[in-house]
Order: sequence, then C-alpha cells, then structure tokens
Amino acid sequence: MRHKMNQPGKPLGVIGLGGLGHMAVKFGKALGLKVKLFSTSTSKTEEALNLLGVDKFVVSFDQDQMKVAGVYILVGFPSEVKFSPASVLIGAKTVSGSAWKKKSHMIGNNINLDFALYCSASSKYINPSMSNKVRENYRPLANFRPSIWKDTFDSMPSPKLVKELEYDKQFEELKEQVKETLSTAFSTDDPVKEVILINSLCRLGVSYHFKTEIEQRLHHIFESHPDLAAENDYDLYTVALIFRVFRQHGFKMSCGVFNKFKESDGKFKESLISDVRGILSLYEATQLRVHEEDILEEALIFTTTHLKKISLALDTSPQLANYVTKGLEQPFHTGVPRLEAIKYISFYEHEESRNEALLKFAKLDFNHLQLLHKQELSYLTSWWKDLNFASIYFYMRDRLVEIYLWSIAQHYEPCYSRARLIVTKIVMMMMAIDDTYDAYGLLDELRCFTDAIERWDIDALNQLPNYLKPLYKSLLNLFEELNNEVTEEGRSYSVSFIKEMVKEVVRAYFVEAQWFREGFVPLFDEHMSNALISACCVLLPAAAFTGIREIAGIHAFEWLQSKPKVMMSSFTILRLIADLVSHEDEQKRGHVASVVESYMKEYGTSRMETAEKFKIMVTNLWKDINEECMRPKIIPLQLINVIVNVARIAEVFYKEVDGVTNPEYVKDYVKKLFVDPLPL
Ligand SMILES: [Mg+2]
Repeated sequence: MRHKMNQPGKPLGVIGLGGLGHMAVKFGKALGLKVKLFSTSTSKTEEALNLLGVDKFVVSFDQDQMKVAGVYILVGFPSEVKFSPASVLIGAKTVSGSAWKKKSHMIGNNINLDFALYCSASSKYINPSMSNKVRENYRPLANFRPSIWKDTFDSMPSPKLVKELEYDKQFEELKEQVKETLSTAFSTDDPVKEVILINSLCRLGVSYHFKTEIEQRLHHIFESHPDLAAENDYDLYTVALIFRVFRQHGFKMSCGVFNKFKESDGKFKESLISDVRGILSLYEATQLRVHEEDILEEALIFTTTHLKKISLALDTSPQLANYVTKGLEQPFHTGVPRLEAIKYISFYEHEESRNEALLKFAKLDFNHLQLLHKQELSYLTSWWKDLNFASIYFYMRDRLVEIYLWSIAQHYEPCYSRARLIVTKIVMMMMAIDDTYDAYGLLDELRCFTDAIERWDIDALNQLPNYLKPLYKSLLNLFEELNNEVTEEGRSYSVSFIKEMVKEVVRAYFVEAQWFREGFVPLFDEHMSNALISACCVLLPAAAFTGIREIAGIHAFEWLQSKPKVMMSSFTILRLIADLVSHEDEQKRGHVASVVESYMKEYGTSRMETAEKFKIMVTNLWKDINEECMRPKIIPLQLINVIVNVARIAEVFYKEVDGVTNPEYVKDYVKKLFVDPLPL
C-alpha cells in the first residue's frame, strides 16, 4: 500500500516463491496486479502458474528477461543484498524496505492465506499462538526434495539376449549342483553339517529355491535330535549357529545350550575372547532372544564389548574385521534380507571353506533377481509417470523408487512379484493422500476428501476440489482393476478388505490434520493407536497378501483383522524409530506432533531420555516378535516374515534419518539392488 501498489493492472515482480513470496503473489493477485514471479529453478512453475495464478514465470538465470526497472522492496531479512550503484542509476531503480512490524497492513484484506506468514521463521508461530482462522486456511508446505532418480529406470531391460540364455544355462547347471550338495548332506547322517549348509544358503540369499527341503530337514533334525547343540563337544561357533538357524525357522531351541560356555562364577569363559568367529556367531544368536532369557542378555553385552575391541585389532584379517564391524552396525536377524545377502556374499567369497559352485550360484541368482526387479521398477515407473502425480501433486514426496525398495525389503523372491507391484502402487497412492493431509490441503478440502473416501463412489468426485479429483479417480480405478483380477481367482474378499483399510487410514490422516490445526498433543497411547493406523499397519500387509494368491487365503486376512501381536510389534517399531529420526524436521516445518512429543509431554522427559526409552521399547518389541515367530502358527512363517520385514526396514532405512523423505540416505541401497550387478 505504501508503494501505491493497490491499483489493478500494475505490474508486480516477486522474487522467490518461499513463505513471503507466496504471500506476495496472493496479495498481488487479490489486488488485481499483473504478477511476474522470478525463481532460480523451474520446479515451482506448475504451482506458480496453475495454483497461484501467476501471470508470468521467469527463471532468474535468463538475463534478457531480468532487465527490469522499478522499486525493489525488501520484505524479509536477507543476510546480504549486493548490487552496483550503476545498476540502480540505469533505469532509475529504487531500493526500499517494508514497514516492519506493521503486519496489520497485510492481514485482513479478505485474502486466503495459503501459506502461514511466518512458517519459514520458526515452528513456534505454528503452534498455539496461531488463531484457528489462520490454521484452517493454512497450507503447511514441506518443500520435499524432488526424486533423485529422474529417468534412471525408464527403460525396460531388453528381452533375453543369446548371452543371457547362456547365462540361464549356467545358472540351471549350478542349481543342480547345489541341489546335489544338499541331498548328499541330507543323506549322510551328520545333522550339524546339514544345518551349516542350510545356514550358508540362507545367508547367501538363495534358500528360497529349496524352501520345502530345508523346512522338512530342520523338522526332522529337531524331532530326532532335540539336544543337537548339546550333543558332542561342539564349539561356540557351531552351537550358536545351530541355535540361530533353528530359531529363525520357528523352532524354539533352549538358550540353556550356552551354559557350558560359562565359568562356575556365572561369567562367560575368558578363553572365548580369542575365538572371533565364535563370539560373532553368539552375537548373531542373541538377536533371537525372547523375554527373560538372561543368559542371552549377558551374552549380548559380552559379545558386543569384545567384538568392538576385536574389530579395531584385527590387522591380520581386514575382511573379518570389516565383517565384524558391519555385523555390529547391523545384525543379520534384524537386517533387510536382500542387503544382508550382498554383505554375506562379499564375505563368503574370501572364506577358505567356501563352496565355489554355491558362491557362483548365489551371485548369478542375485543378478537374475536384479533383472526381474529392474523390469518391475521400469513398469512401475511408466505407471507412475502416466498418472503424472509428481507434477499434479508437486507438494508430495516423489518416491516411487524408494517405495519399491521398501517392497523389495518386504518380499524379494520372484513369487512375490505381484505383491510388490500392488504394495508399491497402493503405497504411492497413500503417500499422495498422506502428503495432501500433512503438507498441502486446507481442512475443509480434507474433510471433503475424507468423506468421499467413505462413500467410495465415483459420483463423489463432484464434491471434491479440482486438484484432488485425479487422485480420487486414480485410487478408485486402481481398486477396480485389482478387484477384476482377484475376482477371477475367487478372492474378492481381499480387495474389499484393503478398501476398508484405506478408509481407516484416511480417517487417521484426518485426525492428525485436525490435531495439527488445533495444536493438540495427545497422550502417548492414544497417539500410538492412531499413529499405527496412519503407518498403514493393517493395510500394508493386507496389500501384500492380496498379491500372494498361493498362500494368503481368507484365513490370512482374518488373522490380520485380529491385529496379531507380531504385526502390532513390527509396526510399533517402525513408528518409534521413524518418529525419532524425523520429528525434529517435521516440527520445524509445521507438522502434527509425533509420538515423540506425546511421550515427552506426558512423562516430562527430554529428547535424549525419550530416545533411550524408545530404544528399550524397540528391544522389547523384537523379543515379542521372536516369541511370536516360534509359536504354533495359524499362518505360514513366510507370510509372517513379510510383516517382520517391516521392523527390519525401520532398523535399516530409518537408522539415522527418514530414508523415504530423504532419498540420498538410501541411494546406495538402490544402486546396489537395482543398478549395479554383482561382478562374477
Ligand atoms: Mg501423515
């Protein structure tokens, strides 16, 4: 107003579309000015032109277009502005400043505040001091980084070439050889040798080829040799390996097998310290402990302490030292299976006792699967680009590759191909909805969308704001396609089930959107029950099960509906770990309180203390998971593992930061799994 800009038709240039820039555009348009936006990148073109109605978008590197004259008004507090006197003189330009603190000049012109005035300054403005009116009309933009993969996975790997057919032949021959090794081991009456071979197959990531044989043999051995680990005088390495292999396959071997490695004073024998492999094997076994197994708690402290020292002192064997360090960072049992396979292959190839055929087979198998995964990713990329969501929903996290990585972490085997496609598609849809609720939508728009989801009817499209129509329509289409597929299989119950779960998740998103606008921080337990739903606790396993026709029948869905402990524990781990690493950034940008804030508020703890408490909770939840995997099971262990892998994803992809929101963090995993084949 001070610069007589309230005259319709006058030109207004806005530099940068941040918080204040956004406001300036809104004011300019409301006053009927011709608004030109100057930005350093084209990433905001869509938002500026289509949503804010900017008249012209100028990339500030374009020197010709930057030749302008007029009054340059400083509104925010840039740290430094440089210009030469000549550039002011030529064209008679003026530099001026805003009337700081006179914000009443700005608010109240019947302008819809799409963006909080102070959002970039500090989150304290977003919390209770903000009036309800402002909160209701607040678009909490998060400015997520764009995808880092661009066109990397656009092209489909070519159909089989002659070279690849040769490769197939070699692969089949090696598979036969491994099968033979397996049956030889099974026919000699040496159960320990069998278990060691089974362990190699599991750790190299190829056990899925021999699932039935392995299952049968372990069953047989567990029945016929109940005290196998205590028989003979097996060393620590062997006893701990037998213990771990059985527990990982759902057999509850007693932790009493480790008593013989203790002195009469109850401490672990000092002589074990020099046995690096033995200690490492015991450390890996402790990850399978359940509640009240004190000997394994002691073993964890004993092994961790010594492995840390050992890893620093192993100059003679850098391979082993590296393996120990990696094991300390991420134990096998709580790691993501595909990544663990790569880790073990690179260790195994330096082992003197290695089986060459098995090693080669594992590498070829890895590359084979990688090719399949690349094909799936390329198909999904084209599906995603056709939807054009990254452009329409410019405010969302464009993370197709990271979500596909997630689905590989949940289930990598070829038989789960369809499950991966379904999970990725549904999660991307949910991510668009989630980010609309957290990082763009106005409360009234979200209310409309939540209501439309409840109705699940294409006629509800008319009640939606224009920008949400493509999302709603695509979601309904996706479910229609899925329904057609599964109805042919007589499994329409699966799609009806996940549809209800989508409704439940969207309701939970809406609750969070309301809490955010009310500045409400719920009690920890109340918060967690909503936060588990918004983390897709039942929806995600159900989406995967929908794609697993062979073993996921109606009972598997009923089991999910009963909210089994193993599922609740896995997703609670995900929520605790994810919120711990992401809550500070979220609060800075303006986001509903996380379970971290709820805990701190309810128990009066500091952030550090809360982090410690959460770590203890995570440890205990793993014990629950381990216990659940060893109960008589209503559904197959392989389905349970699809759920346990969610906790593993939390441990790996959210170790330091949220790897989905910050794609750089998981970039290396994407490259290992989908870009670089293993050298043969
Ligand atoms: Mg959310």
